[in-house]
Amino acid sequence: MTADVVVAGGGVIGTAIAWRAAAAGLDVVLVDPERGDAASLVAAGMLAPVSEALFGEGALLRVNLLALQRFGSFAAELEDVTGHRVGLRREGTLAIAYDPGDYAALMRLTAFRRSAGLEAEELDSRACRKLESFLTPDVHGGVLFPGDWSVDNRRYAAALRKAMTAAKVRIVRDRVTGVLAGDDQVRGVAVADGGEIGAAQVVVAAGCWTSAVAGLPAELRAAVRPVKGQLLRLRHPDGMPPVITHTIRATVRGVDVYLVPRADGEVIVGATQEERGPDLTVTAGAVRDLLRDAMSVLPVTSELILAETCAGLRPGTPDNGPIVGGFGAGNGPGNGQRGLLVATGHYRNGILMSPVTADAIVAFLTGQPPAAEWEPFTPGRFAAGEGSR
Ligand SMILES: Cc1cc2nc3c(=O)[nH]c(=O)nc-3n(C[C@H](O)[C@H](O)[C@H](O)COP(=O)(O)OP(=O)(O)OC[C@H]3O[C@@H](n4cnc5c(N)ncnc54)[C@H](O)[C@@H]3O)c2cc1C
Repeated sequence: MTADVVVAGGGVIGTAIAWRAAAAGLDVVLVDPERGDAASLVAAGMLAPVSEALFGEGALLRVNLLALQRFGSFAAELEDVTGHRVGLRREGTLAIAYDPGDYAALMRLTAFRRSAGLEAEELDSRACRKLESFLTPDVHGGVLFPGDWSVDNRRYAAALRKAMTAAKVRIVRDRVTGVLAGDDQVRGVAVADGGEIGAAQVVVAAGCWTSAVAGLPAELRAAVRPVKGQLLRLRHPDGMPPVITHTIRATVRGVDVYLVPRADGEVIVGATQEERGPDLTVTAGAVRDLLRDAMSVLPVTSELILAETCAGLRPGTPDNGPIVGGFGAGNGPGNGQRGLLVATGHYRNGILMSPVTADAIVAFLTGQPPAAEWEPFTPGRFAAGEGSR
């Protein structure tokens, strides 16, 4: 089998790339073993550049803002092409501080976010409950960040897959074991069943498993690690009206918990952040802690149905930034590994960043410059390139 481009990995990053590359006229094969453990299917679906903005992550904030700006038109086209609704919500994030210590920390973050030009509205406890009437009167106060959105990541992932298939992307259910190269030019991939797929351009988008793909520079493989997140999916009993309308991000005695409402009545409660390697078990302690913290701010959570517990692996990197591009000049393909591109390390924001990552990779594939916001996120910041495989 041959193609113009092989994409290794069919999470939201790989499928968004495959769809947009095929829409740009390229012949694309996507390879994924489809084990059902993609982080994309676990995520909470927050599109939250504002409430995710942290001290010292200015470059990440800029690419996340670009991502949010792009998400609306990308989702609209996706819904148009597939006829599937992706559950985009634009109500914003209500950040809640449970006690005075939590409030002081929230105020420091809010000052920082405002200094970056982001919109924030401080609210006392009563004003918080005016927005979300089921919040406990005990909350100390909060801040509304109206710039954040959310999407139903499972509906979004399903729509991407449908769009990709409609665009004639061929799907191979297998695992890429390595990138094949000769004379400094990529020539395709090897797959686990022993076969090869020929292509002059390869995009490795295998999430936290990117580190297992042979043929990538060793420093790059070492830079990507799994960061475990456990999360709960709750459902309203029949006839119960929605208990929240905004995404709520609460800090309860120094511990963060979020609740994300879906249009179809689901409420996502998440998430842990654990350095446990590729462990996908759900623990009793995590379920207890998430429910305890959620119920501290929103007691009515106890009346919802615990529909699903799950765990996923975020592709983390040493600087929390994504890794997008190639190994040549200007971050494009080239310099000893012509035709090799990677799109991974999206950590906590891969759903949000999937449209702009696809735009950047398609730009590289077609010889165009990507948006300037990608400059800090070259694979070269970790990989010395040729000779370090
Ligand atoms: C609990 C939790 C909550 C999150 N919440 C949010 C959120 O609110 N907002 C947000 O934007 N992001 C969130 N994220 C992060 C987001 O889920 C990830 O950044 C994103 O899903 C990464 O997408 P991906 O396609 O790179 O990886 P994945 O979705 O993990 O997909 C990787 C794919 O590669 C395939 N694969 C693996 N190895 C190979 C191989 N060798 N060959 C071929 N294919 C291979 C796998 O089968 C898989 O399908 C969350 C993550 C978690 C775990």
